[in-house]
Amino acid sequence: MNRLSSLSWHEVRAAFQTIWGYEDFRSPQGEIIHALLARKDVLIVMPTGGGKSICFQLPALLQTGLTLVISPLVALMENQVQELQEKRLPAALLHSELPSFKRRKILQALAQQKLRLLYISPETFFSPPVWQILCKPELDITAIILDEAHCLVQWGDTFRPAYRRLGAARRALLKSKPLGTKISLAAFTATANPAAQETIHKVLELQKPEIFRLNPYRSNLNPSIRIAWTPNSRKKQLLNFINNRPQQSGLVYVRSRYDSENLAAWLEELGYATAAYHAGLDAEERRTIEKDWINDKLQFVVCTSAFGMGINKANVRWVVHFHAPLLLSEYVQEIGRAGRDGKPSDVLTLVSEPTGWLDSEDKQRQHFFENKIREQQQTAQQLARKLPQQGDIEAIAQKFPNSLIALSLLHSNGQLKWLDPFNYLILTVGKTQANNQLNVTKQMRQYLYTKQCRWQFLLNGFGFSKNIENWRCGHCDNCQ
Ligand SMILES: [Zn+2]
Repeated sequence: MNRLSSLSWHEVRAAFQTIWGYEDFRSPQGEIIHALLARKDVLIVMPTGGGKSICFQLPALLQTGLTLVISPLVALMENQVQELQEKRLPAALLHSELPSFKRRKILQALAQQKLRLLYISPETFFSPPVWQILCKPELDITAIILDEAHCLVQWGDTFRPAYRRLGAARRALLKSKPLGTKISLAAFTATANPAAQETIHKVLELQKPEIFRLNPYRSNLNPSIRIAWTPNSRKKQLLNFINNRPQQSGLVYVRSRYDSENLAAWLEELGYATAAYHAGLDAEERRTIEKDWINDKLQFVVCTSAFGMGINKANVRWVVHFHAPLLLSEYVQEIGRAGRDGKPSDVLTLVSEPTGWLDSEDKQRQHFFENKIREQQQTAQQLARKLPQQGDIEAIAQKFPNSLIALSLLHSNGQLKWLDPFNYLILTVGKTQANNQLNVTKQMRQYLYTKQCRWQFLLNGFGFSKNIENWRCGHCDNCQ
């Protein structure tokens, strides 16, 4: 039952004050909550730190059904669920590393409709014991919330093939529910350019979504790009930059585990309080580093893109991209870790000169990424020829390792359709259109070598081009 009719806006705000103790919503929190209570679809592009979790937690708690929150990282979900449980709210987290007695308990609570919020990874969401319960006709599902929706767009380290089956998931769930049931779908992402928004819209099969986009401009972030002529000068520039900011908290981004270990070891030897951070560390090691950094025991961390999602530190004064990311959206997310407190913060990127003659590292990384995508495409096309036109992914995955990535790639090419989250239909074999995954890296390179105002370039790239034709930020390297 939809309770909105019986809930006045006054009651919604009162619940907000009782549970969280804030006076009123920040825009667009109120509008999003309103849309979700009306069981509408929503697409939200909101930088981290914008108070997004309240947007779906409050509607979930005000309704009687279950809200599923799908998120890529266990650590991200743990923090939120812990906060909710401390307030004695009916929320739980289900993931594959839980001991089986805890898992059983949560599945039981789920089946008995005792939970209002269930946090879950996309893979666990599709696992048979969970899926079977979710499909029970009497189980009331209010909404599916997709956090970090860029994981279905970005074809890099953060890509998750299961995300591409989520649109089909709602379709399948609705089939098992009484006629006329509504389940709203909300997708949250920190960054998405217009093309990425379109992809999210299409893949999730959003129905007339209300769209909320927060302008990513941050007047306290000063972006600059500097050319590093040789590998040595890259290191020297990094040292200069850090030495000019004694005791200021920061982050150094690199693109691989190897680089993170290597650079951190070198800096530690020089006496800096730092550590390497990447997805290869176990959860406990990562928690320790996060804590030490948040408490200023480490001045900075040398990290890959694995660092950041869900970590909040207000006084980060600088971010250096020792190696630039390949995607502009990754760049914006990563510089966004700086200056959350609103104070001026410097974000520097080091790049080799465009030809790559003296320092070929950046070029190599680019080629490595492009080759990997080409290889994945080839594998996907080969697989498409071998597979039955229609089939069950579980059976396919057993026969062909890595087939889930391949199927997702065919889906992103428009060559495949999900009949339901577990069954595909191949539409065309062979010809692929020009690969947009390769085009997206061009934008980042243009950004690195542009003479234009950096912020103007970024705002244009993210679809905020209105009224900024002659606008300049006045605080990036190109403006100064
Ligand atoms: Zn500027």
